[in-house]
Amino acid sequence: MNGKVYLVGAGPGDPELLTLKALRILRQADAVLHDDLVSPQILSHAPKKARIDDVGKRGGQKSTPQEAIHFLMIELARQGLQVVRLKGGDPLVFGRAGEEIQALRKAGIEFEVVPGVTSVLAAAAAAEIPLTMRSTASSLLILTGRFADDRSLPDLRSLLASGTTIALYMPGPDTRITASKLAAAGLSLETPVAIVSRASTPAQQLTLTTLQELPQIAVQAKPSILILGDVVHLSKPDWLRLETLYGQPLPLLAPTHRKERDVWVNLQAVNHG
Ligand code: SAH
Repeated sequence: MNGKVYLVGAGPGDPELLTLKALRILRQADAVLHDDLVSPQILSHAPKKARIDDVGKRGGQKSTPQEAIHFLMIELARQGLQVVRLKGGDPLVFGRAGEEIQALRKAGIEFEVVPGVTSVLAAAAAAEIPLTMRSTASSLLILTGRFADDRSLPDLRSLLASGTTIALYMPGPDTRITASKLAAAGLSLETPVAIVSRASTPAQQLTLTTLQELPQIAVQAKPSILILGDVVHLSKPDWLRLETLYGQPLPLLAPTHRKERDVWVNLQAVNHG
């Protein structure tokens, strides 16, 4: 009898952000096929006898072809094994789970998707940025910077004007290119930007800036994600920075009243410092 494939979200890095369901399934796995972004602590929950394969693919580097992952997943399930396909964050957010689901359906293999905490949620928590906020942001757009390397981003002008927060996954290694793509998509140079690297891990880093200043920001540790929009002004470090500038606690100003967008801070390990 065929086994079953579980497409499991491992969360953004912190092993405590694994769901109880993901943990239970991982503990019962016969085989684990995992991405690069999954930490060794999380993998250590798999049984000692389980087969573990790193099928990760980091942008630009040598990687396991997607078809080979499909083949392996299906073959292991046909051997009657419980297969865990473990992905960083949530499997359905830029996780190529869509293709894997199609391949499993075509092969007639039973599968189940187990959601995980996607990285923008961990990044927002680290930076204390509300992704939605009454009167500031009423929607959240999940976007990839690698929309296609040679294509431009969709037109974002109207979205931002209507109060949308943008989560930019895979922003790319070159902040100049990222900034120019975002500007070409209609974002104002004044747009506040938070760069969160390695969210939820001890190496987490936060940088607050604007689209204009983004090209001057040194390369961040990978993986990193960008949060763009007025809500970025509500991050706690931003308030701390302003308090430092003024030397006293500030009254709560609406983001539009904030002019101090030309300086940025880099607070290391916000929640772990
Ligand atoms: N399925 C994943 C996303 C995979 S795409 C999820 O739901 O989060 C890979 C991108 O995710 C990275 O380029 C980066 O933008 C983001 N990412 C993953 N883990 C992250 C982390 N701990 N901190 C910041 N960004 C992260």
